[in-house]
Amino acid sequence: MKDNIVTHHYQVTINDRRKANNQNSFLMWFTGLSGSGKSTIANVVEQRLQKKGIKTYTLDGDNIRKGINKDLTFSPEDRTENIRRIAEVSNLMIDAGLVVLAAFVSPYKKDRDNIKSIVKDVNFVEIYINTSVEECERRDVKGLYKKARAGEIKNMTGITAPYEAPEHPEIEIKTEQETVEEAVEKILKFIEPILKYKNE
Ligand code: ADP
Repeated sequence: MKDNIVTHHYQVTINDRRKANNQNSFLMWFTGLSGSGKSTIANVVEQRLQKKGIKTYTLDGDNIRKGINKDLTFSPEDRTENIRRIAEVSNLMIDAGLVVLAAFVSPYKKDRDNIKSIVKDVNFVEIYINTSVEECERRDVKGLYKKARAGEIKNMTGITAPYEAPEHPEIEIKTEQETVEEAVEKILKFIEPILKYKNE
């Protein structure tokens, strides 16, 4: 079957779509433990980008795990497949000319490397939301840590499943030292030069 898939070359390209939107398109990938602050920070960044007239879309557990990935569990293999599909969806959105924000725990380095190769290095901004497991457990936004401690959740990242911290993220936010507003400013400052449309 694979052998019979021949790429059709469409006349409207990624460059045309970026030009029409008058912006660049790329992926901002937020990684960190559950409760670290990924969605909170991504949400404010997206609001700020919208105010600037930038076209965006946010992918997170709510719109992905309930839809395209509802067949996947939290086993290591399914986590890998989860991230692969999100990267492919992100890639289509980049192709469509959007700035994509994705907030997922994504605990494995090899999976995050895979995203980079799917969407290409230049389109990938890795943002490490670095909050200690102790602080995440104290916040316990969704009550998941409590359930994990009670043995009701298996494979809970930070408790019974590993988290491999990024070694060279483009941006690192330490939420125990930086406020949401400071984090947002840092991210906006980093992406400012790459937001603009550049003819390729
Ligand atoms: P995640 O998306 O990583 O699972 P959430 O954004 O849902 O995490 O939850 C993070 C929680 O931490 C929120 O209740 C948020 O208000 C709180 N929080 C406290 N300080 C910060 C900070 N500096 N940055 C981000 N979130 C923070």
